[in-house]
Amino acid sequence: MIVGKPLLTTREIQEKVKELAGRISMDYAGKELLAVGILKGACMFFSDLVRSVEVPLTIDFIVASSYVKMDTSGEVRIHYDIREEMSDKHVLLIEDIVDTGITLNQIRERVLARGPKSLRICTFLDKKERRVVDVPLDYIGFEIPNMFVVGYGLDCDNKFRNLPYISVFRKKT
Ligand code: 5GP
Repeated sequence: MIVGKPLLTTREIQEKVKELAGRISMDYAGKELLAVGILKGACMFFSDLVRSVEVPLTIDFIVASSYVKMDTSGEVRIHYDIREEMSDKHVLLIEDIVDTGITLNQIRERVLARGPKSLRICTFLDKKERRVVDVPLDYIGFEIPNMFVVGYGLDCDNKFRNLPYISVFRKKT
């Protein structure tokens, strides 16, 4: 297995996080914000982002894993669900990467069913060309081509999450 040169450097990531946090801070000024990280992949992005957001907020997490079958029907398992009350809050879901959109779509519907004041989605990476289910994305860090990436929270077999940059991952030939 080879982890190649950075596709996105630490510096590029930090600059993007600051830019997104600036937009989020403006959009949520004066509102009760609940930031929800989708784990494990969004762990690094989530913690960097919320530390740069300048409006008061509360945090929670949802831990999900998806088992995508041969067709487009993926089964999403929830291992830990959001515990915060959200009917009085504006919820911002924070995701690492949107690929087919199946995982995020199911989480989105789950959150909407709990009646938050509003719901927006922020994703660090977007593999738009792979989309199977349309999910509205409000804040996008980087759009990337159809390649498997690791680092900055994203894994392969739970490894490489601690790389401070994003790298393309490929099997050794
Ligand atoms: P989706 O349901 O959108 O197809 O899949 C989303 C999940 O698949 C992400 O949260 C992530 O865990 C995983 N995933 C999709 N693409 C990649 C990738 O390029 N690298 C890694 N490490 N995980 C990915």
